[in-house]
Amino acid sequence: RRAVVLFTGDLRLHDHPPLRAALAAADEVVPLFVRDPAVARAGFAAPNRLAFLADCLADLDASLRERGGRLVLREGDPAEQVCGVAAEADADEVHVAAADSGFAQAREDRLRRELTAAGRRLHVHDTVVTAVPPGALTPQGSDHFAVFTPYFRHWSGYRLRDTLPAPRTVRVPDGVRSAPLPKAAPGPVPGGESEARRRLTGWLRGGLASYDRGQDDLAGDRTSRLSAHLHFGTLSPVETVHRARAVGGAGAEAFVRQLCWRDFNRQLLAARPRVSGADYRTRQDRWRTGRAAQADAAAWREGRTGYPVVDAGMRQLREEGWMHNRARLLVASFLTKTLYVDWRVGAAHFLELLVDGDVANNQLNWQWVAGTGTDTRPNRVLNPVAQGRRHDPDGAYVRRWVPELAGVEGAAVHEPWKLPEADRKKYPDRLIELSDGLARFRQARGLE
Ligand code: FAD
Repeated sequence: RRAVVLFTGDLRLHDHPPLRAALAAADEVVPLFVRDPAVARAGFAAPNRLAFLADCLADLDASLRERGGRLVLREGDPAEQVCGVAAEADADEVHVAAADSGFAQAREDRLRRELTAAGRRLHVHDTVVTAVPPGALTPQGSDHFAVFTPYFRHWSGYRLRDTLPAPRTVRVPDGVRSAPLPKAAPGPVPGGESEARRRLTGWLRGGLASYDRGQDDLAGDRTSRLSAHLHFGTLSPVETVHRARAVGGAGAEAFVRQLCWRDFNRQLLAARPRVSGADYRTRQDRWRTGRAAQADAAAWREGRTGYPVVDAGMRQLREEGWMHNRARLLVASFLTKTLYVDWRVGAAHFLELLVDGDVANNQLNWQWVAGTGTDTRPNRVLNPVAQGRRHDPDGAYVRRWVPELAGVEGAAVHEPWKLPEADRKKYPDRLIELSDGLARFRQARGLE
């Protein structure tokens, strides 16, 4: 018997329920990935993520070859391609993980229709994208959670399935055509399951123990940097939670709580697909548009707002395709509240550059900061000077990313306008006084 396994947001061999089931049901299995041009047309194929994806596919192929198999790559409409491969391989069943977005749901529905019409079966397995499947936990009277804390309580008590090992051998039938693997210039973050597993193991032995104390330390960079791996599924969230819990301690607890945020956002987006674009909970914001607002947004994107910690974050994003979570919070607050520019402007820029760029996590975190989402304190404004002094007390993060200020010692780097002209080099003036931004925001939200 033969089967096809369609890889989607799960580019790994470890802990992969659809692959496991296909291998149990069939003697020969086609591991298939389909590059769907619709993803590029929808604007999600940013170069940083394409480079990461190329690494993932190369690594998956290499791991399959070590086990006697190979990866089959196709390009085009997924339903057509899967049906074509099933016919070429003479496979009577196809295995895939459950859809986790509207886009994936439409793909799954079509796939089922077309396979059934051709006399083949589609087996859909539990989602592999979250630890707890979206919809598995519900509060009384609703089909999803809109507030994190009660969700986290339920999530923590949920019994996760056991982790599955990677298969030892994978036999692929002869004669199934494959497109060549994509070649991309190396991206800012190396991808692939082997790299993900190395990084996870290193993290569990190293940084995890002090994560609860270090997660907001901008210069110390004491977070896992596993986000892109979790986004592309080179790491299983179920395995990540199990392994962190096995280490235990306050660091692991804080880390697992962050992993719960991923699941929380997914279940929210699954229940309310429109949340990602339209205002989920509009506060009647009439965001600034016009020329001045556009110029402010451009300065923000380019890291020249005149607020060093904001500029450091934006320059880190451009350089590394990643930004520290604390910096994401404060640059997002600066754009939406201090500059009063629509969160969607910022979210789009993030999605263009982030290797971990993810519709659920990005759009919903942006809304959380903008106060149009699930934040229980929607009108809180982060002060970049106070935030800089608190989370970059020595100023090392700013000096790393803002070379104009590299010669300024200590926390003075957070208020360059107080420095003598000669020490500020070409560092830009402030776009706006914080008190003016705050007054405008409070008035716009009717808080005066
Ligand atoms: P760690 O601190 O090591 O956390 C471990 C994992 O938990 C992360 O890899 C991530 O998967 C998850 N996680 C941590 N914080 C959050 C959070 N607030 N929400 C959801 N999951 C979280 N994360 C993305 O993966 N993709 C995005 O596009 C994205 N956009 C964001 C936009 C804004 C405005 C903000 C404030 C946050 C955004 N985040 C996003 C969440 C968070 O900033 C990143 O997940 C984190 O910085 C990644 O670094 P890390 O892997 O070292 O995280």
